[in-house]
Amino acid sequence: MGAIDELRKRVRGAVITGADPGYDSARRVWNAIIDKRPQLIVQCRNAADVIACVGYAREEGLVVAVRGGAHSVAGNATCDGGLVIDLSEMKGIRVDAERRIAWAEPGLRWVEFDRETQAFGLATTGGTVGDTGIAGLTLGGGFGWLEGRLGMTVDNLLGADVVLANGDLVHATASENSDLFWALRGGGGNFGIVTSFEYRLHPVGPMIVGGLVVHPFARAAGVLAFYNEFLRSAPDALTAAAVIMTAPDGNKACGIACAYLGPVEEGEKAVQPLKQFGPPILDMMGPIPYAGQQSMLDQAMPPNVLNYWKADFIPEIGEGVARAAIDAYSRVPSPMSSILFFPIHGAASRVDPQATAYPHRRGIHMGIYSLWTDLAEKNANVAWVRETWQAIQPFVPGGVYVNELGEDEGDDRVRQAYGPNYARLTQIKAKYDPKNLFRLNANIRPAQTVEPAGV
Ligand SMILES: Cc1cc2nc3c(=O)[nH]c(=O)nc-3n(C[C@H](O)[C@H](O)[C@H](O)COP(=O)(O)OP(=O)(O)OC[C@H]3O[C@@H](n4cnc5c(N)ncnc54)[C@H](O)[C@@H]3O)c2cc1C
Repeated sequence: MGAIDELRKRVRGAVITGADPGYDSARRVWNAIIDKRPQLIVQCRNAADVIACVGYAREEGLVVAVRGGAHSVAGNATCDGGLVIDLSEMKGIRVDAERRIAWAEPGLRWVEFDRETQAFGLATTGGTVGDTGIAGLTLGGGFGWLEGRLGMTVDNLLGADVVLANGDLVHATASENSDLFWALRGGGGNFGIVTSFEYRLHPVGPMIVGGLVVHPFARAAGVLAFYNEFLRSAPDALTAAAVIMTAPDGNKACGIACAYLGPVEEGEKAVQPLKQFGPPILDMMGPIPYAGQQSMLDQAMPPNVLNYWKADFIPEIGEGVARAAIDAYSRVPSPMSSILFFPIHGAASRVDPQATAYPHRRGIHMGIYSLWTDLAEKNANVAWVRETWQAIQPFVPGGVYVNELGEDEGDDRVRQAYGPNYARLTQIKAKYDPKNLFRLNANIRPAQTVEPAGV
């Protein structure tokens, strides 16, 4: 009997190879530009399946890709020729409303997580697009609408169950395997496969104040200058992002989106400056269910579209950055593309950069997102992102969000993503994954080891 048949007997989930009819849909990830052909995909049902897969990969010398919500734009959730450990069917979640804790499996997406926690009027900081996976987002840091008051997603992680490279299942918390727990909160998928996350929850909504105001593109410079100034005194409860985009009517535009976490009347007062500036040509800012806020951007970022992204942290939107971004967007090849400014502020910014592996606790995340549908237009869209990114480099001190690193970025950029925490992460990597089994990620090299050949 072949090794794959043996594996089929050892796991509860489906084991899919190129010979199976479901192969093409099982290998598809969120970013349609990623077109990889793994040797096999195991759709795990539980931690025992994950342990079996890790053992199988070691025995067979296979490269391992780990898949949660499959939103890695770099395509890290799949691979050519290796084993995809697919966790997307592991969607269990239990909420203890009294203690305000959720235990959640790694196949959940934020829309699913929010639905369960909002049933109790609770939530934690999650991603801004509903179908993003909780797993990859959490392990990389996690910025979102609630971060100003509640901190980033990693700041709300209380513990995790992790299958290590040697097949052991361990629990990591602030007091148990605390080095691993520190590394998981920003170190991505480098240390093992998380089979359960434990999150701290907070009372949120169901109604909050949020939404979007839109200004004409011709006024983008003024809007960005106003937004930059507004951020300096915005309260923790108000998280506001700016975006240069193409509106549904086909016209280029500049918008400000926000969410206020607190009483609705307070929120309505706090967003007045955003509603009054300009005035906007479209005002959709006001009371909104938290669930509505969390799905507000879904249509702007649909699945099965071609994507190429680059990102950086900038200290502020000075004149140079604004000019470069506006100039670039005037030449954007695809109306689906956008440039997003999302601040790390409030509670998220008061955490010491070395308290968790996620280090970027100040400034504004600037994402240059190219989305288009025709493969023939790849060169133009990729070139637009690269040129825009080049144009802002004089204003960038260095620093990038690990979850938005592209697939073609080198070691220097990976180190910038981990910043001052890289050296400590290499030590922890050497302890928990000395042979670098988990390497399809923004890879941290195990300290004092030469990269092993094969796995
Ligand atoms: C449309 C869109 C919107 C986004 N919005 C936000 C946002 O608002 N805030 C934000 O912070 N980020 C955001 N991101 C970035 C997001 O954090 C990353 O894309 C992240 O990787 C998504 O996690 P995932 O589980 O869906 O991805 P996957 O592609 O499944 O996983 C990415 C990587 O994470 C690791 N991983 C996944 N699951 C596990 C696990 N259980 N154990 C160990 N390692 C694992 C693996 O290395 C894997 O390759 C967004 C991305 C997209 C595409």
